[in-house]
Order: sequence, then structure tokens, then C-alpha cells
Amino acid sequence: MTERKIALVTGGSRGIGLACAIELAKAGCDIIINDICDAEKAKPALDEIKACGANAYFYSFDVSNDEAVKENVDKMIAEHGKIDILLNNAGNTKDGLNLRMDMEQWERVIKINLTSAYCVTHAVIKYMMKARQGSIINMSSVVGLHGNPGQANYSASKAGLVGLTKTLAKEFGSRNIRVNAVCPGFIQTAMTAELGNIDEYLKAIPMKRLGTPEDIAKVVKFLALDTDYVTGQAIEVAGGLII
Ligand code: NAP
Repeated sequence: MTERKIALVTGGSRGIGLACAIELAKAGCDIIINDICDAEKAKPALDEIKACGANAYFYSFDVSNDEAVKENVDKMIAEHGKIDILLNNAGNTKDGLNLRMDMEQWERVIKINLTSAYCVTHAVIKYMMKARQGSIINMSSVVGLHGNPGQANYSASKAGLVGLTKTLAKEFGSRNIRVNAVCPGFIQTAMTAELGNIDEYLKAIPMKRLGTPEDIAKVVKFLALDTDYVTGQAIEVAGGLII
């Protein structure tokens, strides 16, 4: 019997992160989800993952707090022995036009979306190096590749993730650790619930629908489990939004 892989999904209690956790669980992985919420709020997510036949564990911490990240990753390794797959998914927005954007708005989004991925990866990768294998996936965005008015902080954080992805792919490829980014377009989650009139967005999408979290999860599963030779890529999953 082959040993089950263990995947850590940050911001995994809902939305895209939860869909990815479920897809990986269905494919035979055990799942560690992190989120900033408490255990009671994360319980329905854990139950959904367990219903797929996987072991599922929850660790509550803020991914942008370097000390908390180190402490919790070491605890995960002590309790579960390894992390084979890391999905840096936690993220947030605080939109505003550049002229009105203050430093707090800028720094908060950079810290939660970009610095967090550096912190978690830094804590996990030494264990992947010892295991001589690993797959890291960073949840970027089409706006990190193409920009978006009103999202200077968010776009810069997501562009930063692409740079981080490509650099780490070059640094760790020889250790059999692959690093890729997924760049979703408009996906139906709490994050996009406030978009208002979606008809304008649909006009720009050749496939004429918003994406679902499951659309993203399929690509994450491919990168995590179905390929051994894709690294350093930023894959757009956006229904053809930008061609
Ligand atoms: P979501 O529904 O808001 O989920 C994000 C999750 O991350 C939430 O559970 C949130 O917890 C958690 N989180 C936020 N800050 C955290 C922190 N400091 N530490 C730990 N967990 C934290 O968003 P989503 O739409 O699923 O997005 C998931 C990822 O995809 C994000 O990185 C987002 O930027 C990216 N993305 C989304 C879209 C889209 O159209 N939805 C498009 C492109 C990229 P709380 O709710 O408790 O804060």
C-alpha cells in the first residue's frame, strides 16, 4: 500500500481553499487545513473533508505572523510526520483607487497575501528538502499578471507570488520540489460576492460564466498530484478572460 500524501491548505475553511482540500482528499490525500478562524467555525469544513474518506486536521493561526507559522508548522510535522503538498491559498482584499490608498491598506494586503506565502513556504520547505520531494502551489490571480484598477495592493501581492513561484522553482527544482502558481479569474466565492452586476464581467469572459471553486481545485490537483515535471508556471484559470 502506498503511503497517503499530506496536503497543507492555508485559508482552507471555505471558498477556493476548501474546494481544493476536498479535491485532494478525494484523490487520496490527508488534509491539514489552516485558517484564522476558531476550530468551531472550521468544523463543517473538516467534516466535509472527512466525508471524502480522508483524515483531516485543523490549525488556527494567522499566516502573516511568522512566529505563529513556524510554531504551527513544527507542530504539524511533530504530529503528522510530513507535508508533501503546500497550497498557499489564504488571501484578502482591501480595494481602493491608488490616490486614496493608505499605507495600512497597502501593507495589510501585501502581508496577508504575499509575505504569508514566503513565511509558510520558508517553514515547510526544509522538511520537503529532507523528504527530497514536494509540491508547492501559490494562489495568485489574473490581476497579478494583468493588473486591475482599484487593486494596486492586491495586484502587487499576486504579482509578487508569481515572482516568488518562479524563483523558488529555480532554487528547489534540483531537490525534486516543484513550485507553481494558479491564477484564477472571477470565481464565485465570498470574496467576489460584492461584485454587484456580474453582466459586465460576463461580457469579458468567452465562456460566459464565472468560475467555480471546483474549476480551480482541478488545476491544483493536477499540479499537486498528476504531474512530476511542471514547475515555475503561473496557470490562468479564467474561462478565457484574457487571451
Ligand atoms: P475567501 O472565501 O475569502 O477565503 C479566504 C480564506 O482565507 C478565508 O477562510 C479567510 O478567513 C482566510 N484567511 C484570510 N486571512 C487569513 C490569515 N491571515 N491567516 C489565515 N487565514 C486567512 O476567498 P476565496 O475567494 O476562496 O480566495 C482564496 C484565494 O484565491 C485568495 O488568495 C484569493 O486572493 C484568490 N483568488 C480568488 C479569486 C476569486 O475570484 N474568488 C480570484 C483570484 C484569486 P476569514 O474569512 O476568517 O478571514
